[in-house]
Amino acid sequence: MDRTVASGSNSHNSKLSSAADMKTFLRKAKKKFEEKWTRSLSPKIAKTDDFEPIKTVGTGHFGRVVFAQHKPTKKYFALKILEKSKVMSSNQLQHVKNEKKILQCVHFPFLVTLKFNFKDNANLYMALDFVPGGEMFSHLQTFRKFNETMARFYTAQVVLSFEYLHYLGIIYRDLKPENLLLDSKGYLKLTDFGFAKKIDSRRTWTRCGTTEYLAPEVVLRKGYSYSVDWWTVGILLYEMTNGQPPFRDKNPDDVYTKIIAGKISFPTHMSRTLRNLISELLKIDVTKRLGSKSSGVDEVKRHPFFHNIDWMTMLQKKYPAPIIPKLNGPIDTSNFPDYDEVPLIYSRSELYCNEFEDF
Ligand code: AMP
Repeated sequence: MDRTVASGSNSHNSKLSSAADMKTFLRKAKKKFEEKWTRSLSPKIAKTDDFEPIKTVGTGHFGRVVFAQHKPTKKYFALKILEKSKVMSSNQLQHVKNEKKILQCVHFPFLVTLKFNFKDNANLYMALDFVPGGEMFSHLQTFRKFNETMARFYTAQVVLSFEYLHYLGIIYRDLKPENLLLDSKGYLKLTDFGFAKKIDSRRTWTRCGTTEYLAPEVVLRKGYSYSVDWWTVGILLYEMTNGQPPFRDKNPDDVYTKIIAGKISFPTHMSRTLRNLISELLKIDVTKRLGSKSSGVDEVKRHPFFHNIDWMTMLQKKYPAPIIPKLNGPIDTSNFPDYDEVPLIYSRSELYCNEFEDF
């Protein structure tokens, strides 16, 4: 059953107007973003007691994400809770500050939305709009692999998200199926901005991300830029359509060796067009990688794999989605696995008061 992307208009004129509309959209979006970025934002007022934790829906390196009710408004959120001491002991202070500031300023259909951020003596909190459809990772496990039409639908939203973020000067650095959530309509929301960073035209050197998704220039500890995100699009496409990423091994060092060697073996079921797109995205040489060349994202969008995508139609979420999450009302967390519940850590005195002053 093919429930996915209906062909958009293919006419040359409509493609041109779509590109012009996109440029206008991006210019306006950047203006809004920069106003927020330069203004010192006063966070929306909230405190720990305002939230009634209901169920853990995800875990991360430094804490967890809990489905919770904001008692004053009765609304439900995904409350991301980070333990200050874990953030400090793993040297993630700057990453957490980046995450909060970027989330406060971005606004895009395929990115999670931050509604409140606050802290108490022991923890940091970010209340995000709850995205109820679960991780793409779980859906991919159920399907084992997605057909190319499904993969195109999801990849197009990732491409648009990266176009937006890169246009604002932000590199994302952690694309993977675990960080792609499905909203109630079946469209994506990219979550976890823990490694996102505003770099503008600079390069950056930190080795961060997820082993199988690391670009060769990150593995080799070279300075890098937006090209690493395009590499991850290639890995994601391969993983979606094959069920597993192209460079894998039990031992991370062996994964790194494979990444640097860059030898991709394509399963026979993959179309020639998809193989070509993946190969172009997984070019070891950054200057030859699709998305990183002078024509940038436009070259990705013009690739034949996306020939039937009208990008504005996608941005407006007008295509039917391939998976509509099963939901029983607005407070359904059944698309997320069960986790052991642990009590919030608590401290009598304010920990790392200076370090988190501006959180
Ligand atoms: P993170 O620590 O940001 O990587 O989040 C860990 C996990 O929590 C994610 O992989 C999701 O399963 C879940 N999660 C994060 N943000 C949300 C959200 N806004 N709505 C629902 N679940 C979320």
